[in-house]
Amino acid sequence: MPRSKPDIERVETFLIDLPTIRPHQLAMTTISRQTLMIVRLHMSDGVVGIGEGTTIGGLAYGPESPEGMKLAIDTYFEPILLACDPSRIGQTMTAIGRSVQGNHFAKCAVETALVDALGKRTGLSASTLLGSRHHDRLPVAWTLASGNTQTDIAEAEDMLARRRHNIFKLKIGKGDPRANISHVAAIKRALGDRASVRVDINQAWSVATASSLLPALADAGVDLIEQPIHYRHLKSMARLAAETAIPIMADEALNGPETAFQIASQDAADVFALKIAQSGGLFAGAKVAAIAEAAGIGLYGGTMLEGAVGTIASAHLFATLPKLEWGTELFGPLLLTEEILETPLDYSEFSLGVPDGPGLGIQLNEASVKQFRRDRGERSVHLLKTGS
Ligand SMILES: [Mg+2]
Repeated sequence: MPRSKPDIERVETFLIDLPTIRPHQLAMTTISRQTLMIVRLHMSDGVVGIGEGTTIGGLAYGPESPEGMKLAIDTYFEPILLACDPSRIGQTMTAIGRSVQGNHFAKCAVETALVDALGKRTGLSASTLLGSRHHDRLPVAWTLASGNTQTDIAEAEDMLARRRHNIFKLKIGKGDPRANISHVAAIKRALGDRASVRVDINQAWSVATASSLLPALADAGVDLIEQPIHYRHLKSMARLAAETAIPIMADEALNGPETAFQIASQDAADVFALKIAQSGGLFAGAKVAAIAEAAGIGLYGGTMLEGAVGTIASAHLFATLPKLEWGTELFGPLLLTEEILETPLDYSEFSLGVPDGPGLGIQLNEASVKQFRRDRGERSVHLLKTGS
C-alpha cells in the first residue's frame, strides 16, 4: 500500500515564561523563572511534533538563549524544514548541520519535534524509535539549592518522606569552598545512608583548590563530584580523576560526541552527565552514551532544567540506555509553579515514569500555553526585562 509522504507545512516557535517554586542558586546565576522555547512542526497530514529548548539563566550558562534559539529556527532552520522529508530525521538534521554551525540546543529542540511527529505517525514511542527501552522508570535526583543548611536538610527530609527523591545534588560553586564543604558534610551527616549526596561545582574552583579540597568532599561522604574546574582543562581533570577516591563527572566539558571522545581518550572523567541539548540532539546524545559505554565511563542523565517537553525527550533517550548507573536529574518540571501538560508527569517512588504513548507521549495544555506565552500570539521576539 503506498504511504503518503507528509511535508512540514508550518514551523511555529514561541517562548513560555514560568516562575520557579523558589530561587535556584547556581555558581553562575540564581534563577527565579524559566523560559522554555517551544517548537511545533505542523505536518500536512495533521500530525504536530513538539520540541523544547531551554537554558539556565538566559545566556549565563552557555552560548545559547531561548530568544536566540527562536530567531535561529525562524530564520535559518525553517526554510530547510519546509523543504525536507520529515520522516528522514537524520537526513534533515544533516541538512540543517550544513547550514547551521553550533546551536546545539536549537537543533535538539527541532530534532525532538521530528522524533515526536514520526512517533505519532507510526504509533511508536520516541524511546522505541531511539532503539527501544530498557527502563520504564528512571531514578530522579533533586538539587538542594536554598543556600541554607537547615532549609536544605528539611527539604531533603520532606522529599525522603514523600518518596520523591533519595539522591541529592548540591551546587557548591558559589561562595567560600571550605564553608560549602561544611554545609555538604552537615547535610550528609543528617541524611546518612538514606540518601546519596553529590556536589556540582560548575567549573568554579581553580585546579589548586580542587586538588586540595576534593579529598575533604570524599571524607564528607559525597558520592560524586561534578565539573570541579573549567571545562577546557582536560589534563587537570584527568589528574583530579586519577587522584580522587570518588568519581569525577564531566558536564560543561561535554558538548557532543567529539568532546565526549576527547574526554574519554584523555581519561578526564569517570562519569558523563549526558544532556540531549548540550549533545546537539537525541541521536547525538545516544552517540555520547555509546562513547561512554565503550570507554567504561559511567552515565548520569543530566538536565538543563527543561520543562516537561525537554524533560520527557531526555527521559526517552535515557530509557534506552542499558546501564544508567547514576540515575538522572530530570526534575526540571518540579521546579516550576505551573503545569503545562494535559496529564502531569508521574513523579513517584523516587523516580519518573516514561510515557509510553506515540512520540513523546505527552500533550501540551493549550490554555496553559496561551496564558504563559510571552508573545501572546505575535510573531516577533519580545525581550524579557529583568526585574519585571
Ligand atoms: Mg552540572
